Amino acid sequence: MRRAGLLATIVVVGVAGVAGQRARIPPTGTIKHVKDNLYVIPGAGGNTTVFVTASGVVLVDTKLANNGEAILNQVRTVTDKPVSMIINTHSHPDHIGSNDYFPASVEKVTHENTRKWMAANPRVASNAAVMPTKTFSDTMTLGREKDRIDLYYFGAGHTNGDAFVVFPSVRAMAAGDIFAWKMAPLIDPMAGGSVLALPDTLEKAIKGIKNVDIVIEGHGDVNTWSGLREYTQFNRALLDAAKAGMGKRTAEEIAADLRPKFPVFTKDELLTDLEYGGTPMSRAVINVNVAFQELGHKP
Ligand SMILES: [Zn+2]
Repeated sequence: MRRAGLLATIVVVGVAGVAGQRARIPPTGTIKHVKDNLYVIPGAGGNTTVFVTASGVVLVDTKLANNGEAILNQVRTVTDKPVSMIINTHSHPDHIGSNDYFPASVEKVTHENTRKWMAANPRVASNAAVMPTKTFSDTMTLGREKDRIDLYYFGAGHTNGDAFVVFPSVRAMAAGDIFAWKMAPLIDPMAGGSVLALPDTLEKAIKGIKNVDIVIEGHGDVNTWSGLREYTQFNRALLDAAKAGMGKRTAEEIAADLRPKFPVFTKDELLTDLEYGGTPMSRAVINVNVAFQELGHKP
């Protein structure tokens, strides 16, 4: 998908959507308890993960623009502590959009490639309050003991700046959009995303990250480690099938073959709160086509 089209898909709010349907992105939702001092706020773009530490509140992703006050109102229902840090899982506007609502003193942390994509977008880069103040390349640890957060990067997938954010004390992780909506991820090639790299990246995450039970998806539900494992197998199977079928079978036929083994990721229903988007099956077909394109460009 071309950059303009992709961003339009992400930021579309209350305007005519695909096939004349009225696009509907739900507003910032009610904060949900995940475990101990970990919470998630759905709606208005990506999930916002809330981790309450001794020194302040850490937010992972800040939704579309103009949702800062709504996010803070939800945080205020569980703690009076100030927001002390923002971690952005990647560079898309529905995950960084309300960074600038929070004071400039709040540390903002991303993968180095995410910073690069943000700096390359004049609308983002001109707003210093959105930009990262700290970056990492492979791994980084923030805080200690009960408040410890481990950041990991394993390669390209949804973009080439997808951070995995792990909270060891509660055995939980925020995965960003490399795992969202329980369907194959949207691949953003203009931000370094790659369906060829995706299974490697997910398999490295499964191998390299230990002691996580709870996985908060970039959009949609709170999932489990075994859910992430099955999703990794699905994305590997999709790529293997695309390689085997390229030039012989259609993307629709290839995706349909995956259904008996992976029914969750190949449903035909539109998901709740994703009425503006496609079905899991339509995304699988898109990703087979993306694989054809990437394979065709190989030397
Ligand atoms: Zn995204």
